[in-house]
Amino acid sequence: MLILHYTGMQSAEAALERLCDEAAQVSAHYLIDEDGTIYRLVHEKRRAWHAGVSFWRGERDINSRSIGIELVNPGHEFGYRPFPEAQMASLEELAADLVAHYRIPPLHVLAHSDIAPDRKEDPGELFDWQRLAARGIGAWPEPGKSDEGGWTNAEIRDLLGRIGYGTAWDDGHGTAWDGTVWDGSAARSLLAFQRHWCPERLTGLPDAETVKRMRALARVYSERLV
Ligand SMILES: [Zn+2]
Repeated sequence: MLILHYTGMQSAEAALERLCDEAAQVSAHYLIDEDGTIYRLVHEKRRAWHAGVSFWRGERDINSRSIGIELVNPGHEFGYRPFPEAQMASLEELAADLVAHYRIPPLHVLAHSDIAPDRKEDPGELFDWQRLAARGIGAWPEPGKSDEGGWTNAEIRDLLGRIGYGTAWDDGHGTAWDGTVWDGSAARSLLAFQRHWCPERLTGLPDAETVKRMRALARVYSERLV
C-alpha cells in the first residue's frame, strides 16, 4: 500500500526534525518539501511508523505493509494550503515508480484519512488525487448512467466496505451506527470518502454525486485487488 500524508507542522525543518527523532515514534519513508525536494528517511523495505491505528479491507497492521510519503504542508491546524506544482511533480514521479515497482493496486493508494477516518484528515481535500490517477497512480471514479438513482443507508455501508473502509462503525463511545442516523464513525468514513474522491462535497452526508462516485469506484476497482 502507498499512504499519503501531510506533515501538519509549521515548517519543513520542524517536520524533518520530528520525523528523524526516535523518541517521537513517528517516521515515514519519504518526505517531500514544497519546493519538490525529496528526502528519503527510511528504506522502503523497512517498517516505518506512519499509519498508527488504522484499517483497510480487513487489514490493521498497515505499517508493516505500506510505504508512507509525507508532504510538507501546515495542515488544517496551522493554515492548510494548496500543494505547489513542484511538490506535486516530484510526488508524481516518485509514486509512479513505487506503484510500478511494487505493483500497488489502485485501491491501495490511499490517504491517511482513508485508513484512519476517526483520527486523521491528511493529506486533505486540496490534494489532487485525480491528477495522480491520470498517471496510473491510484483510483478515480468515472460514474456512468448505471451509477445513478436513489440509495439506502445499507447500500452506502456496503459500498464503503467494498471500497475498503471500516464499517463496524462503533466509535468506541457506545454509539454504534444504527443504520438510520449519520453521525459518529459512519459520518467520518463517508467524510473520508468525500475528502478523497468527492472533495467538493465535504459534508459527511450522502448525496447523489457522492453516491454515484462511490458506486463507480466499487464497480470498477473493488474486484481488482489481489
Ligand atoms: Zn498522516
